[in-house]
Amino acid sequence: MTFGDFELHFLHDGTFKLDGGAMFGIVPKPLWTRETACDEKNRILLRCNCPLIRTGKHNILIDCGIGRKWNEKQREIYAIREDHTLIGDLAQHGLKPEDITILIHTHLHLDHAGWNTRLNEQGEAVPVFTNARHLVEARELEIARHQNEIQRGTYLAHNIAPLDAIRGFEVFTDQVVPVPGVTVFRTGGHTFGHCCVRIESGGKTALFICEMMPTTAHRHLPWVMAYDMYPLETLENKRRLFQECVRNGTLVLLDHDPNAFAVRLREGEGGKLTAITEAS
Ligand SMILES: [Zn+2]
Repeated sequence: MTFGDFELHFLHDGTFKLDGGAMFGIVPKPLWTRETACDEKNRILLRCNCPLIRTGKHNILIDCGIGRKWNEKQREIYAIREDHTLIGDLAQHGLKPEDITILIHTHLHLDHAGWNTRLNEQGEAVPVFTNARHLVEARELEIARHQNEIQRGTYLAHNIAPLDAIRGFEVFTDQVVPVPGVTVFRTGGHTFGHCCVRIESGGKTALFICEMMPTTAHRHLPWVMAYDMYPLETLENKRRLFQECVRNGTLVLLDHDPNAFAVRLREGEGGKLTAITEAS
């Protein structure tokens, strides 16, 4: 879609599944299953949504999906489908990975940093977006390099070390504006360095709200993922960002909703929010 002076496109890296209980934290199953169906293993369907911003000069990608470096067992655990990839979606727009000039990392979890690398014929992980500035919040990168026992499963070395080897990451603290109209800002909550991305052009505003509201079901304030390292920080960010989005009619871009890339939030009776899909 045309978005002010930019082109804004919604790409995705296919679907995967995560445990529904973990995705909805303290919310009991009878409540969250009213919004989202689960399979026989209690898993819910998610998609890896990656917005592409074309400014005329820059091709900016936000996050890079779950990638395709998975073995059979992992593919089964996460129900990773092989049929749709971010690289294929880029090709649909006439772009090769080398055409991406800026890759914004909201954070470096395995389902957001997957295409940082691919396996070559020797089975080694090699960088994919070879001409892109890889922007990441300084403390996010630090934690991704030195995980503790809780974080170990969510940061994979083969998405990070090959870029470190070529000094591929460019860090910032709290906020960065890589091009006028695109602001990456730290929220914390999900991870210490987790960031959202505000896109402003021609009087229009979009917000890649990322893990502050991964699916439309997470529009309820207390519906915070058990994966979040700092859930109270997520809660306060949700409150603040939701108010901003309702007030300004911001287009809210979702990172994991399987059916919606972009929604508008409307406030109804008692402050209850509804999410109206604009791009699916
Ligand atoms: Zn994450």
